[in-house]
Amino acid sequence: MNSHAGFAPRARQNFGRFQNGRRFASNGKRGGNRKDIGREHIDVSRFIKQATAPAKITASNPITHAFADFGFNATLAGNIARLGFTVPTPVQDQTIMPALEGRDIVGLANTGSGKTGAYLLPLINNIAKNRKLRVLVIAPTRELAVQINDDFRRFSRGMGLDSAILVGGIPPRPQRLQLRNNPNFIIGTPGRLKDFQQQNVVNFIHFTTVVLDEVDRMLDMGFIEDIKHLMSKVPAAHQTLFFSATMPERARRVADQFLKNPMTFEILSNRSADNVEQNLIRAGQGQEKFDELKKLLDNPGMEKVIIFGDTKHGVEKLSKNLQRDGYKAESIHGGKRQNQRQKTLSLFRENKINVLVATDVAARGLDIKDVTHVINYTVPRTYDDYIHRIGRTGRANAKGCAYTFA
Ligand code: AMP
Repeated sequence: MNSHAGFAPRARQNFGRFQNGRRFASNGKRGGNRKDIGREHIDVSRFIKQATAPAKITASNPITHAFADFGFNATLAGNIARLGFTVPTPVQDQTIMPALEGRDIVGLANTGSGKTGAYLLPLINNIAKNRKLRVLVIAPTRELAVQINDDFRRFSRGMGLDSAILVGGIPPRPQRLQLRNNPNFIIGTPGRLKDFQQQNVVNFIHFTTVVLDEVDRMLDMGFIEDIKHLMSKVPAAHQTLFFSATMPERARRVADQFLKNPMTFEILSNRSADNVEQNLIRAGQGQEKFDELKKLLDNPGMEKVIIFGDTKHGVEKLSKNLQRDGYKAESIHGGKRQNQRQKTLSLFRENKINVLVATDVAARGLDIKDVTHVINYTVPRTYDDYIHRIGRTGRANAKGCAYTFA
């Protein structure tokens, strides 16, 4: 019953259970016959434990600050209250104070933990005090950059601060125009930022803080050289805030290279998985698997579902097949234009479609409310990917549910 397809035993998850009592697990195989299963037997939390950490705090520690303790600018404090944030999340509790003080920080935290606020709130406050400060936020995907910018606008409303988003996949001209106002925050993806820097469209010589968000994913996407390039263009004396859900060796090397005496905070790595019920489904391939998926989607509780697949082609095909069979499904993947991707996300956010079929890259870090279920139509390549995928549901302490086809 407790079959687990290559997921390390540490996972302590409910694979093999299915909410309506049907049994899918346990065909006796560990899934090792699939090329991408079993590739990873590394306990990611071991990496986190190895992090050199002047301060180690986990989410099991009680929250020690109220927002009032941070002495935020009155407008910023008002915006936080208006957003309904009453207490800091664990990552905010730990990182806001040192970030306000200009310290370098390594924050090991999942998306969904409130990490965007953990860096934006103190940095906005610092800029409100000193308008000369400039912040560069480097993120892995366009969608995440847009989401960070949306948070920036919400948090900084009425403060007269400006931002620019510099991301690939959309024409550069309108992005150039955003730079005319000398924005306080530039939020972008590594490739476009580097292109603009090399073309002298933007320079970072006055930038005082760099945020590296979702470093593990940026490294997975091959952005290391672009990141190094950008870091070499920022003045040596700058503050660096480094966020990653996991700390593989290469992420630690980046931290060692670019951060000065950082404070390291560990927010439990599988926090968002804790409130996600997790199930394994054994199904065949092809039509049989697709029929099983549809049966699953027909369950009454399946209100807002993200289905993950590996490839652009697979995701596109699955979404088309679901549409053909009457499901309100759309896809997001790297093969789609940016405006199509944004439109699809809006439809999903606004419940005009209820099934989003996505690749890992396209869905990384997205904060979409009320996702009831995540379905892994393909087994994720790594346990990290798995945690990120299922972290799309069960956010902000809501209960979520995940199914993995294996
Ligand atoms: P993030 O991990 O930054 O994507 O944040 C996940 C979600 O938590 C977002 O919807 C945030 O608006 C929300 N959030 C962030 N900080 C708080 C807080 N202190 N209280 C309540 N919700 C929050």
